[in-house]
Amino acid sequence: MNLDNLYKVLEGQPKFRATQVKEAIFKQLIKDWSEASTLSLDLRQKLNQECPLEINADISQSKEKDTSKVLIKLEDGEEIETVLMSHKDGRHTVCVSSQVGCAMACKFCATGQMGFKRNLTVSEILEQVLFFARLLKEKGERVSNVVFMGMGEPFLNYDNVMSAIDYLNDANGLNIGARRISVSTCGILPGIKKFTQQKLQINLAISLHAPNDKLRSELMPINQKQPLKKLMAAVGEYVHKTGRKVMFEYLMIKGVNDSVKYAQQLATLMADPLFMVNLIPYNPTGVYLPSDKKTMNTFRQYLEHNDIEVTQRYALGQDIDAACGQLANKKKNK
Ligand code: SAH
Repeated sequence: MNLDNLYKVLEGQPKFRATQVKEAIFKQLIKDWSEASTLSLDLRQKLNQECPLEINADISQSKEKDTSKVLIKLEDGEEIETVLMSHKDGRHTVCVSSQVGCAMACKFCATGQMGFKRNLTVSEILEQVLFFARLLKEKGERVSNVVFMGMGEPFLNYDNVMSAIDYLNDANGLNIGARRISVSTCGILPGIKKFTQQKLQINLAISLHAPNDKLRSELMPINQKQPLKKLMAAVGEYVHKTGRKVMFEYLMIKGVNDSVKYAQQLATLMADPLFMVNLIPYNPTGVYLPSDKKTMNTFRQYLEHNDIEVTQRYALGQDIDAACGQLANKKKNK
């Protein structure tokens, strides 16, 4: 799907036509323009030529059926991965990629080890959600949440990510509430600042993973240029200006960042009541190992005793490499 081509086809057409067309894509979730019965045959044919809706995808499903991963092939042959997580409470969360590869080179992240290829277009971001929206529609269900926690750094593709969110949000389209959309960043300061000014209802998540500069700089090269003090100041400003919570993601990596000493340091950083911590079991992608359960519990309890809000993420879809940070397209490596 290429929305730029679509708008070119619609040039000179009355405005309501664009509305019809958008509704067909995002509300009726058509897979082919022949299904768009409100449009003339001529226009449908033109659209099928200039903006085909077919998504070139290869899907794999976890044994527990709670997670599906899809490999989407883009127009230029590049491939990205998208994950659907289906929760027991009926929520369906799509984890989308914002870039092909990633330039951030975080040591623990499989995408980070691939390097950066290019930004995704608005259409390519949307296609990922549409793929699962169409699939769920067949079961009478819908995408309820979207998280930008797939491949790439969303705040280095800020404009495309934000304009994709506008489409996701559109009440005449997918109608996914802003509060059900989360953007996760490794801490790109200009992005956080812009996000603060826009005063959106979208959730902000920060990949922290280490509570001091020495360790964080080792794990996440971005920290060498943007130390924690600056990051925490920017996030503090966000919370102050918007009154919204921020989720700090903290991977639990065995023997690296999981001791009580680090829990103490983390507790000190979480000074604002609107700061919360999400502990994530690490999915091994190479060098590191996940913390054991007992260590994780001790870490969590330390934070809780210090009145810090903590949630723990469950590891879904490990058997299909669909968990966060594992999205590195194994096919390519073979
Ligand atoms: N670049 C953005 C978004 C992508 S990463 C960011 O850094 O936030 C989304 C989340 O998955 C981040 O918290 C990231 O650190 C985490 N992650 C990366 N590798 C992981 C792994 N191997 N196991 C579990 N989570 C991982």
